Amino acid sequence: MSIVYLGIGSNLGNREGNCKRALELIENKGILIKKKSSLYETAPWGIKDQPLFLNMVIAIETELNPKELLKVLQDLETEVGRGKSLKWGPRKIDLDILLYDNIVFHDDTLTIPHPLMHERDFVLRPLHEIAPDVQHPLLKLTAGRLLQKLQDRETSHGVS
Ligand code: AMP
Repeated sequence: MSIVYLGIGSNLGNREGNCKRALELIENKGILIKKKSSLYETAPWGIKDQPLFLNMVIAIETELNPKELLKVLQDLETEVGRGKSLKWGPRKIDLDILLYDNIVFHDDTLTIPHPLMHERDFVLRPLHEIAPDVQHPLLKLTAGRLLQKLQDRETSHGVS
């Protein structure tokens, strides 16, 4: 069994309903949800001119390997009704693999740890809530330290 942290986001339609539906569908696939963060309302990243996101992070336990898990998550995104969307644009649901045990993996379709997770407040805050001591296997820093470093950088750049 592997422990995996997933990022969940929605900024279209019934955002809370979309996140809850994603959780139900994940459980329906036989994946055990061990921990759930609160929902965080966050400003969009990348394309700024779009509705606010609701984001959360969950910890799951699964026997699926990383590629099998990615396929399941992509099917769920389609099922919740993602349709075609712009990169970093509005979406009903976005599911990202953030951390998968201590695995470091990269190919054309999958990068683990998620390559932008340490830059994103909307990932680090909910991750810190449920797993403050989990380590980033490349940066060798805990979620707590990554969040602190990001907040220090944002303060020094004058971003609140
Ligand atoms: P996005 O539109 O930001 O959700 O990006 C989706 C694409 O990112 C998919 O085509 C995935 O193949 C790719 N991808 C790469 N690494 C990951 C990851 N860790 N979790 C989810 N998707 C990933």
